[in-house]
Amino acid sequence: MKKHNFYAGPSILPEFTIKNTAEAVLNFAGTGLSVMEVSHRSKEFVAVMDQAIALVKELLNVPAGYQVVFIGGGASTQFCMVPFNLMKSKAGYLNTGAWAAKAQKEAKLFGDVIEVASSKDANYNYIPKGFDVPSDLDYLHITTNNTIYGTEIKTDLDLGVPIVADMSSDIFSRPIDVSKYDIIYGGAQKNLAPSGVAFAIVKEGALGKVDRQIPTMLDYRTHIDKESMFNTPPVLPVYAALQTLTWLKDNGGIASMEKRNIEKAGLLYDEIESNKFFKATVEADEDKSLMNICFVMNDEYTELEKDFMELATSKGCVGIKGHRSVGGFRASTYNALPKESVEVLVAAMKEFASKH
Ligand code: PMP
Repeated sequence: MKKHNFYAGPSILPEFTIKNTAEAVLNFAGTGLSVMEVSHRSKEFVAVMDQAIALVKELLNVPAGYQVVFIGGGASTQFCMVPFNLMKSKAGYLNTGAWAAKAQKEAKLFGDVIEVASSKDANYNYIPKGFDVPSDLDYLHITTNNTIYGTEIKTDLDLGVPIVADMSSDIFSRPIDVSKYDIIYGGAQKNLAPSGVAFAIVKEGALGKVDRQIPTMLDYRTHIDKESMFNTPPVLPVYAALQTLTWLKDNGGIASMEKRNIEKAGLLYDEIESNKFFKATVEADEDKSLMNICFVMNDEYTELEKDFMELATSKGCVGIKGHRSVGGFRASTYNALPKESVEVLVAAMKEFASKH
């Protein structure tokens, strides 16, 4: 039976990425060797890194003065790299979830952290708005898509201070204006590649302003100057990232992904709203994520949760169990998820309603 992969991360990748990466594991660029066993300094691999960086710049219209780097350590290492490199004395953090809170915790090691707003009071089911932002912040850190709770900041914020954004789970899903950010970063394992690599888009002018010494590996300058080859990069994830970026370009780029993502999410949110057995955990439409769609059984039907899980599983849906801190269901609808998979889940919800 065909599987419909709704995992939140690691998560579905384009078939193009999986097939090409599998081939390169056996024979990379005609070398007769696996991509896992050639030097990262070989001309074949250097070309992969260069193309991946160039395609990120092209797809996101990265302006002059910004650099793209691939770094090991996942998004969690970025939580400390950001303040290490940018925080002179004071930074703001918008607390929209567990990952945002983890980023905030790391920043406290480096200076004053102002929590500008938090939605923790309601288990992070909304994006705070209308909060005050001190004008003397070195930067304000936001998490654009909150993978666990299904909330998303879908516009580029203009708050009068430099913005740093964790875009781990919505990068490449909608057009962004990179010039509005000092740093955009994320782990690759949602919309880009297998886990093992993080990306960062860094405004060069934002660097070099702190007095503290920065360990070589945690200094963005190191990775920029050495074109992500200061040490051995995670070669397989970077190879896979290049495949996904190529697929993105061949499929109409980011604007076309956004169109597909709006359509897919719309199908599922409409069904959640019209089906009396289910309800969305996020109330405000503008806060609803296009990447992670969280829903629970309506209050009077909570005991039927297991039944729906069984039905959806019997239709091939995988990975729809909600995060333990939210419960219910979470359908992640990343770029690579076909509309057909959402249709299968929606059909299962309709079938469930007609059976009960
Ligand atoms: N930020 C967000 C929004 C995430 O969803 C995750 C992982 N699920 C992380 C950060 C942490 O990423 P990593 O596991 O790559 O450290």
